[in-house]
Amino acid sequence: MVNKYPSMPLRPIGIVRNEITQSPQPDEGKVISEIIIDNSLTEALDGLEGFSHIIVLYWMHQAPLVKPPTKVHPMGKREFPLVGLFVTRSPHRPNPVGVTTVRLLQRRGNILRVEGLDAFDGTPVIDIKPYIRGYDSVTDAKVPQWLTKACGISQKLQDIYHRLMDCYGQQHWWPAEGPFEMMVGAVLTQGAAWRNVEKAIANLKAAGALSPKVVRRLPLSELATLIRPSGYYNAKALKLKSLAQWLGEFWDDNLDRLLASDIDCLREQLLSVHGIGQETADSIILYAAGKPVFVIDAYTRRIIGRLGLAPEESSYAAYQTLLMHSLPTDSSLFQEYHALLVRLAKDVCRRRPLCHKCCLNSICPSPSMS
Ligand code: SF4
Repeated sequence: MVNKYPSMPLRPIGIVRNEITQSPQPDEGKVISEIIIDNSLTEALDGLEGFSHIIVLYWMHQAPLVKPPTKVHPMGKREFPLVGLFVTRSPHRPNPVGVTTVRLLQRRGNILRVEGLDAFDGTPVIDIKPYIRGYDSVTDAKVPQWLTKACGISQKLQDIYHRLMDCYGQQHWWPAEGPFEMMVGAVLTQGAAWRNVEKAIANLKAAGALSPKVVRRLPLSELATLIRPSGYYNAKALKLKSLAQWLGEFWDDNLDRLLASDIDCLREQLLSVHGIGQETADSIILYAAGKPVFVIDAYTRRIIGRLGLAPEESSYAAYQTLLMHSLPTDSSLFQEYHALLVRLAKDVCRRRPLCHKCCLNSICPSPSMS
């Protein structure tokens, strides 16, 4: 860049303190942070308590130092068009200045307690301004069509979630007493109704066989007999054997260590086991490890399709990307959302849907199917 502009000295006025050390954060908008303002500037905060919201400008010190590209896909999503860098909020820019409007919860001397600051712990703060309705909000703001579409899908998916939650309440998934039982359930539920999986798990429990060690030791035929209620019992017995074998050989039966792995590594590991496909692996990651991935099953595809939100491609990855990019990254939300979709599919959005009984029929483009 040609140095033809006046110099622009900046110095931090304070620092952010919170628990954010990596992005993305679950429920980002609810994160509570403290902004510690330099003692010499404490007086400059006098009167700020009268405002419910403030605008915080900060230096995204963790942004990469290499030269930023001039064109990017917004939010790093390839489904969005390639646009100019300044059309996006990418942190990777010539001057990594961030700006967030936050709720001011409290001022204590030189400390501001705020909600919704999208900045890492240790971020230098450049400036604070009061948020003034009228000056700082624009009623006729226009945005490009790709953004309207992305925001529209996100809002619709959140609306669907709230309607399902109002209708069915919390589903308390996954019903299991420990991670191994959860993993066994995830394998047994392949192509089976949950009530039949429950019978198979009850048999395993009664036989004291709900541990990798015992599953390894049991003769295959005996294991198959125990899980018979879940169907495909010979194939599933082999899958459980492979799982137990793998847990012993590679993880020393230490499930805590396995489940503490990061999402990509855990997924790759699980997919290497005979009988564990994408849906089963993601169920284990979401419900046993409590990590945020959205599980895509036939029910999810059916409901998303009928609601007119299906992605252009029908692959597992395309559905997962759609949901994960449109919803806040939050494992509890993903757990509950998936459980609610399953509930809706079983209750009313069946192969032959009962749309007249459905809590989504006023926003669904396919209600005539009832
Ligand atoms: S209105 Fe009908 S098609 Fe739409 S989600 Fe409900 S049951 Fe399914």
